[in-house]
Amino acid sequence: MPDDCIFCAIADNKADASMVYEDDQCVAFMDIHPIGDGHVLVIPRQHALQLTELSQDSASHLFGIAQRILRAQRRIGQGIEGSHILVNDGPAANQQVAHIHIHLIPRRRGDGLQSLGKLALHITGLFGRARARDVLELEARQLREALSALED
Ligand code: AMP
Ligand code: ZN
Repeated sequence: MPDDCIFCAIADNKADASMVYEDDQCVAFMDIHPIGDGHVLVIPRQHALQLTELSQDSASHLFGIAQRILRAQRRIGQGIEGSHILVNDGPAANQQVAHIHIHLIPRRRGDGLQSLGKLALHITGLFGRARARDVLELEARQLREALSALED
């Protein structure tokens, strides 16, 4: 693991994060500069820059967990009716953190202009203000509860 990788540090519990899900292969946590309420990142524990570096099994596991978290987001409700499932795969695609991650960005009816504007800025690396840790913790707890209420 590279010493300077913030996502490896989060996966190893060496950096703060509001954890939504953990298993032996991957972790999911709240994005600190969310595009909208409930924005989650899913990452493999294995350090890899891009999706092509993961085995097919690891990629399948990662997307399977992403799908469960999408279900949990819909279960919470709060107007979430759709999502952007986004991977900025490699620096040429404006990836800012050099450890593969899947963005799960909830969308609500009527949030169009605000959300799309933030998404456009985000993709260029303009993340905006960090969200307060207590708000992220609350969102993470709601998602953990919704996940444990899901049937397998
Ligand atoms: P990307 O442009 O796809 O590489 O996006 C990187 C994402 O990581 C952005 O949405 C950031 O807000 C998010 N991010 C960066 N550092 C942290 C952190 N320490 N905790 C949570 N999210 C982070
Ligand atoms: Zn890493």
